[in-house]
Amino acid sequence: MTKLGMGMMRLPLLDENDFKSVDYEQVNKMVDEYMDEGFNHFDTAYIYHEGVSEDVFKKCVVERYPRESFKIATKLPLFVITEESQLEPLFKDQLKKCGVDYFDYYMLHNVSGFTETAWKNVDLYSFIQKKKEEGYIKHIGLSTHGNAEFLEEILVEHPELEFVLLQINYLDWEDEGIESKKCLEVARKYNKPVMIMEPYKGGFLADVPDEAEKIMKDYNPDKSVVSWAMRFVANLDDVCVVLTGASNLKQLKDNISEFKNADPLNDEELDILKKVSEIINSNITVDCTKCRYCVDSCSSEIDIAKIFDLYNKHKMLDTDEWTQLGNAYLNYSKLPGVGIASDCIECDLCIEECPQEINIPEVLKDVAETFETEIYGFKN
Ligand code: SF4
Ligand code: SF4
Repeated sequence: MTKLGMGMMRLPLLDENDFKSVDYEQVNKMVDEYMDEGFNHFDTAYIYHEGVSEDVFKKCVVERYPRESFKIATKLPLFVITEESQLEPLFKDQLKKCGVDYFDYYMLHNVSGFTETAWKNVDLYSFIQKKKEEGYIKHIGLSTHGNAEFLEEILVEHPELEFVLLQINYLDWEDEGIESKKCLEVARKYNKPVMIMEPYKGGFLADVPDEAEKIMKDYNPDKSVVSWAMRFVANLDDVCVVLTGASNLKQLKDNISEFKNADPLNDEELDILKKVSEIINSNITVDCTKCRYCVDSCSSEIDIAKIFDLYNKHKMLDTDEWTQLGNAYLNYSKLPGVGIASDCIECDLCIEECPQEINIPEVLKDVAETFETEIYGFKN
């Protein structure tokens, strides 16, 4: 049976410009709500929230609930691994940060072209298998943003893997880059249960263009836009966990309600989602899911995820006039120590971090052209 997992990747913040400033009080309330509703699967990673997500998990879950009452999934940060000697201390650090003696689920984080330095040069698979044999991990798996062929190669080579975490949602279902559907089929072929990430595609599917929303509401005025996305993933076969990445208590309550009321989509509704996908695809300018993997690599301190979000929203308004989004960009530019789009030096370091394969420096040129104009108080 599919469970709802609480992702700890986009937690509420006290300062929206500081990803370490997690609002612990609100997370406690979210955890209580989630547990009270009968769920118990938490998903974190070493790198989430610039390294503090595992600490938050410890404070808000481990120190407040008995160990046997919850499951914890976390991930080895392949992005920083270059040699074998890093593995043992890093793993120990993760156990300490999370405050547990063992992990229920442990993944190689984003096995894909972006992390090949780690998985080609270091025997990560033997390491996690050893940790499992020593009792520090119950189940080993991986997360990936790679395509179906890539996933199949790994599963053939590594039958010891027990599960996979994949990006699946109705927008990416037939997408040629993400290949959600094909990846799920590969996982099924090798009998690997699937955990799902990005069911709302970083919030995109909660905020669809008006034209798409109208089609959904005309068909069923009682169903929220986001409930369609949840119904799509919650009823897929062989899925063990759907992760939500709620950013506040209200979103979490909504996600729980959507999950609990996620009746299967009929054929007519599936056709509607195809139309909705076409509309969304024709409106999205940058396919950014706000995962923030690129942000740490940027020597110009550009908060790429944030400014792509502003840019996408601005583009949806389809105007050359002043918008609040441009104003928000101006406000962002005045924060101490941040880089703006035109600060990009085209070093390309970020490109290899991006699971969506966005040509970040190219898009930043458009962002600069759009926002860094006199309308918003920028002088050329
Ligand atoms: S290419 Fe630009 S945005 Fe990317 S890391 Fe380099 S400076 Fe930052
Ligand atoms: S640009 Fe790519 S890596 Fe950066 S936040 Fe967006 S999806 Fe993630």
